Amino acid sequence: TVSVVLFTADLRLHDQPALRAALKQGREVVPLFVRDGRIEAAGFATPNRTAFLADCLAALDAALRERGGRLVVRSGDVAETVCKVAAEAGAADVHMSADVSGYAQRREDRLRAALAADGRRLHVHDGVVTAVPPGAVTPQSKDHFAVFGAYARQWEQQQLRAPLGAPRTVRVPEGIGSERMPSRAALRDVSAGLAGGGEAEGRARLAAWGRDGMAAYEDRHDDLAGDATSRLSPHLHFGTVSPVEAVHRARKKGGPGAAAFVRQLCWRDFHHQVLAARPRAAVEDYRTRHDRWRTEEGARAEVEAWQQGRTGYPVVDAAMRQLAHEGWMHNRGRLLTASFLAKTLYVDWRAGARHFLRLLVDGDLANNQLNWQWVAGTGTDSRPNRVFNPVTQGKRYDPDGAYVRRWVPELAGIEGRAVHEPWKLPARERARYDYPDPLIDLADGLARFRRARGKE
Ligand code: FAD
Repeated sequence: TVSVVLFTADLRLHDQPALRAALKQGREVVPLFVRDGRIEAAGFATPNRTAFLADCLAALDAALRERGGRLVVRSGDVAETVCKVAAEAGAADVHMSADVSGYAQRREDRLRAALAADGRRLHVHDGVVTAVPPGAVTPQSKDHFAVFGAYARQWEQQQLRAPLGAPRTVRVPEGIGSERMPSRAALRDVSAGLAGGGEAEGRARLAAWGRDGMAAYEDRHDDLAGDATSRLSPHLHFGTVSPVEAVHRARKKGGPGAAAFVRQLCWRDFHHQVLAARPRAAVEDYRTRHDRWRTEEGARAEVEAWQQGRTGYPVVDAAMRQLAHEGWMHNRGRLLTASFLAKTLYVDWRAGARHFLRLLVDGDLANNQLNWQWVAGTGTDSRPNRVFNPVTQGKRYDPDGAYVRRWVPELAGIEGRAVHEPWKLPARERARYDYPDPLIDLADGLARFRRARGKE
């Protein structure tokens, strides 16, 4: 018998329960990836993510070929395409991983119905995209956790399966046609400093992180210039690294750095279980509704200055330029740039989330939208009215100013922490730097924020 494995956000051979189940079921499998017209039409297939995806698909194809198989790539509607491939291969069963967004849930339902109409079955595997499946831990009489601390306590108690190894051989039936593998070389507007994708790359990064980085993570994760985080986020987003395996590795290593890293993976699962239960949280305020936002159109010039990294607040600008150049931004940068847009400028968080999703290689509906909501005070932050001060944040998390000098080269001549406040330099020295004055007085921003929140 033959079965089809539909790859989605799980582009790996290690710890791949859908593939494992398909191989157990029959002699041959069709490893299939569908370039989904709906995702492309919705604007989600941005240059950075499409480039990283191209690497992932090429790597998956290469890894399958090493095992005697290959990847089949097709374009079109997922349900129609999978049915077509299943018919060509004579497959009665299709395996895939469960995912959390509203779109992913509808895709699964449509696919199940379309396959059933042809007399075929869909098998959906849990605990692939997250370490703990959404809904596996819930508070009493509710469908999901809205408070991270309570979630984390239960999450920690869960027994995770042992990570599965990669199969040694994969046999693919003859005669199933594939499109050419997409290549990143053909793409325009990809960030110049974008990281490379693919399972081998992700596994190498995870191994190096466990060996060289994880132990110091607790102390160094907020150091903007030190770049001391794992950078596994795009691999977790595309599934080239398994979250189950990442948790196992960290627990095996032990120590405070590993525990802090596991806690971040728990945050990832937390946001995924919120989105799985409340798909509308991708667009609507999750916990507290706020309606007095300035719109992107109404604050056009300020939003553009923020996007371009020209707000006059060096650490904000450094982080926004890192985003443009790498398609990735340090978490501390994400926090303070998001706070600057949503709270200091009081612009609707959705405008900021959209810009992040356009550029982030790890851009993810669960993590991006719910972190934006956390920062904007509409989501799960227990202190929704805190406002980050970009100068204080800069001095705390980039104490020597090295991060600012790296990303804002026009200020590279200013030594030490003075780089965080160029407006304080003597006028003649200030005039040497071609860098804007602050876009807004922080006190004015705070006053507007308090007025708006006070009225709601
Ligand atoms: P590490 O610090 O090494 O953490 C390890 C892993 O834990 C990450 O790869 C990620 O999968 C997970 N993680 C870490 N922090 C968080 C968090 N706060 N929430 C959920 N998971 C987390 N992360 C995304 O993956 N995609 C996004 O689109 C995204 N958008 C964000 C938007 C805003 C406004 C903010 C404040 C945070 C956002 N994050 C997002 C979370 C976090 O900033 C990134 O996951 C992290 O910076 C990625 O770098 P890393 O892999 O080196 O992280």
